[in-house]
Formats: sequence, structure tokens, C-alpha cells
Amino acid sequence: MSTQLTLALSKGRIFEETLPLLEAAGIRVTEDPEKSRKLILATNDPHVRVIIVRASDVPTYVQYGAADLGVAGKDVLHEHGGEGLYQPLDLDIAKCRMSVAVSVGFDYANAVRQGARLRVATKYTETAREHFASKGVHVDLIKLYGSMELAPLVGLSDAIVDLVSTGNTLIANNLVEVEHIMDISSRLVVNQAALKMKRERLQPILEAFERATKK
Ligand code: AMP
Repeated sequence: MSTQLTLALSKGRIFEETLPLLEAAGIRVTEDPEKSRKLILATNDPHVRVIIVRASDVPTYVQYGAADLGVAGKDVLHEHGGEGLYQPLDLDIAKCRMSVAVSVGFDYANAVRQGARLRVATKYTETAREHFASKGVHVDLIKLYGSMELAPLVGLSDAIVDLVSTGNTLIANNLVEVEHIMDISSRLVVNQAALKMKRERLQPILEAFERATKK
């Protein structure tokens, strides 16, 4: 069986926390993305390779079939929309939450009550749009690509929508969480065509991931 499989991962927590799942499927990544500049990493299985992409690009690589499968956060999948992706498994890794935060001292409840237009800075514009629309809160969304925590500190926005894990980043920047939008974890995503065409290769990996996730 010579079918090549390509797995898309992002560096950091998702890569680190996917390694034990791969191990359970008998797959060992033989290069370290933190030490190498290579974007295509080999594994002990000559028919399986790992590509390293930006977290927000994982669904796109899988959607177009450039990767057969990948691991992406619920935050990223929600923004992407999930088109062309089969999402068989919540891997319960890279867990955190998506929250609204403001500067300490900003009266968020009052601002919302008064119906003021809130300026909200975020990388997650779709999720933020849905959240505030469902509450009937009027917002002007400001798209950022990183360091959201800075925006309220320098007057770019009243609030941010961002991922919170320990809460240390918020504390360090004098911000406070005022609303919990959703719990986040990472999911396995599979290209829908690959699932049919490469089923024999994919099935044992999916099953091993499922067993390892339930432990
Ligand atoms: P913390 O200080 O532990 O609350 O982490 C917050 C910072 O880490 C924020 O800048 C978040 O955007 C980022 N972060 C936290 N959890 C995740 C995650 N699961 N995936 C990506 N970024 C995260």
C-alpha cells in the first residue's frame, strides 16, 4: 500500500499534544519543528508526512486536499466555516476558552445596558459577530492578527475577544474577563474526498486517535 498521507499541524501546543496521539497510531515524527526550518517533516512511516502551517491555515490545506487530515482548534474551525471538512473527533487537546475581556475599570455591563456601540478588537471576527448579534449588542469589529490584549490599553478598542487559558496574559495587561463565549479544544479534520479514496490508510489512524483520546 503506497498511498501517501499528509497531516497538517501547527507549531506549539497543537503539535506537542498531537504527538502522543500519533504515537498511539505507531507514527513518530522524526524531526522537531522548533529546531528545524523545514515545513515538511518526515515520520518513521515512509508513507506519512507532517506539514507545518499556521494554525488558521490548517482547515484550508485540508479543505483543498493539500493535506489529507489535520488538527485545528474549534476557534479556527468556527472562523473557517468547516466547508469540505469531515470532523470526526474532538481530541480534547489544546483546551482553552474564548472570552470577552476589557480593561480593569471599564464598566462593560453598563456599556452594554446603555446600548452604546462597542469597539471590539479580535482575530475572531466571525465568532465575535455571532456572539454580539445573538445578544443584540451593537459592535464595531476591528480585525487584528495578534496581541489583541494591547488594543484596550492604547485606546484602539473597548473590548477584545480572545483565547484565554490560564488568564495570566489578561492579568499581566490589567484586563479582566467579562464574558465566556465558548469552550475551545482541538479537533481532527479530514478531507472529505480523502476519507473515501484513502479510507484504508486513514481508518486505523482515526481509530488509534479515538482510542487514545478516550483514555
Ligand atoms: P493565558 O495567559 O494562559 O491565558 O494564555 C493567553 C494567551 O495565549 C492569549 O494570547 C491567547 O491568544 C493564547 N492562547 C491560549 N490558549 C491558546 C490555544 N489553545 N491556542 C492558541 N492560542 C492560545
